Amino acid sequence: MKSALITGITGQDGAYLAKLLLSKGYKVYGLIARRSTSTTWRLQYLGIDGEVELIDGDLADLSSIIRAVNIAKPNEVYNLGAQSFVATSWQQPLLTAQATGIGVMNVLEAIRLIDSSIRFYQASTSEMFGLIQEAIQSEKTPFHPRSPYGVAKLFGHWTTVNYRESFNLFACSGILFNHESPLRGIEFVTRKVTDAVARIKLGYQKELRLGNIDAKRDWGFAGDYVEAMWLMLQQKSPDDFVVATGHTTTVRDMCKIAFDYVGLNYEDYVVIDPKFYRPAEVEILLGNPAKAKEKLGWEPKTSLSELIKLMLDADLLRVKAAKI
Ligand code: NDP
Ligand code: GDP
Repeated sequence: MKSALITGITGQDGAYLAKLLLSKGYKVYGLIARRSTSTTWRLQYLGIDGEVELIDGDLADLSSIIRAVNIAKPNEVYNLGAQSFVATSWQQPLLTAQATGIGVMNVLEAIRLIDSSIRFYQASTSEMFGLIQEAIQSEKTPFHPRSPYGVAKLFGHWTTVNYRESFNLFACSGILFNHESPLRGIEFVTRKVTDAVARIKLGYQKELRLGNIDAKRDWGFAGDYVEAMWLMLQQKSPDDFVVATGHTTTVRDMCKIAFDYVGLNYEDYVVIDPKFYRPAEVEILLGNPAKAKEKLGWEPKTSLSELIKLMLDADLLRVKAAKI
C-alpha cells in the first residue's frame, strides 16, 4: 500500500487531495498544526476525518517535520501547507516567509535527510507571475511576484527546482492558478461572494463590500486541480506544470454570475470599499495548461458557472441551516 503525507491537510486542497488519495487506496497521513480550536471541519465535510492519520507538526519547525516523515514513511509528500491569503501576507510578512517559504525547505531537508527516494509535490502559485510578463502565462514565463506571499512562494518554487537539480530528488512544482470550491476559505473573493449572495438572498445581509472588482483571475475547481497534483508524482521524471483553465474573468463578472443565479442584480448590492484594495495588485492572470494536457493528460472539467453554482448551492444550504 502506498503512503502519502500531506502538509496543509486541513485546508481546501489538503481535504480534496486526501479524499482522492484514499479513493486510490493510499494510507494518508496529514501534518496538523496545533490550534486552540478544531480545524478538521473540511475533512468532516468530505466524510474522511476518521480515515486519515493526523500528526502534530508545524512547517516552521523542522524537527516536527522530521518526526512526521519518520512516522508516515511516505512514498509521496504533498506540501500544501502555507499562510495562503495574499492580503494577510502584507500584515504578517515574516510569518508568511517562514510558513510559505522556509517551510518548503524544511520539508525538502527532512526528505533529503531521511529518504531521498520520497516523491515531493510543492504547491506553487500563479501569484509568482504577479506583474505579468506575458499575456498568457506558461512554465516558461518569467516571474514578478507582487506580495510577500508571492515572494515566499517563489522561494519555495526555486528551492524545489534546486533540490531536484542538486540532489536528484523527485521534486515537482505545480504552478496552480486560483481554484475554489465550497471548502474555500471565506476570505477569498469567490467564497466571500457566494457566502454573501446566499445571506442576501435569505435576508441575513444587505450589501457586499469588495475591493478591486476589475481584477481578473483564471478560476478552476479545486476537486479537478488535486488530480493534477497526483498525476505529477506518477510520471517517469519530475517536472513543473502550470495548472489552469485558460479562461480569465473579472471579479465583477464572477459576481454577476453569482447574483444572477439567485435572480438578483449585483449592482444593487456590491459596494466598493477601498479597505479591500491591496498595496500592490495582481491585475490579471491567465494560464496556459497545454503542457499539463500533453504530458499529464489533465484537463479542467468544471466551468466557472458550474463552480459558482456548486459553491452557492452549498452556501445556501449552510446559511439556511445556520439561520444567521
Ligand atoms: P488553505 O489556506 O485552505 O490551507 C492552508 C493549510 O496550511 C491549512 O491546512 C493550514 O492549517 C496549513 N498551515 C498554515 N500554516 C501552517 C504551518 N505553519 N504549519 C503547518 N501547516 C500550516 O490553502 P489551499 O488549500 O487553498 O491551498 C493549498 C496550497 O496551495 C497552499 O500552499 C496555497 O498557498 C497553494 N495555492 C493555492 C491556490 C488556490 O487557489 N487555492 C492557488 C495556488 C497555490 P490550519 O487549518 O491550521 O490553518
Ligand atoms: P488571490 O488571487 O490569491 O489574491 O485570491 P483572492 O480571491 O483573495 O483575490 C482575487 C482578486 O480579487 C484580487 O485581485 C483581489 O484584489 C480581488 N478582490 C476584490 N475585492 C476583494 C475582496 O473583498 N476580498 C478578496 N479576497 N479579494 C478581492
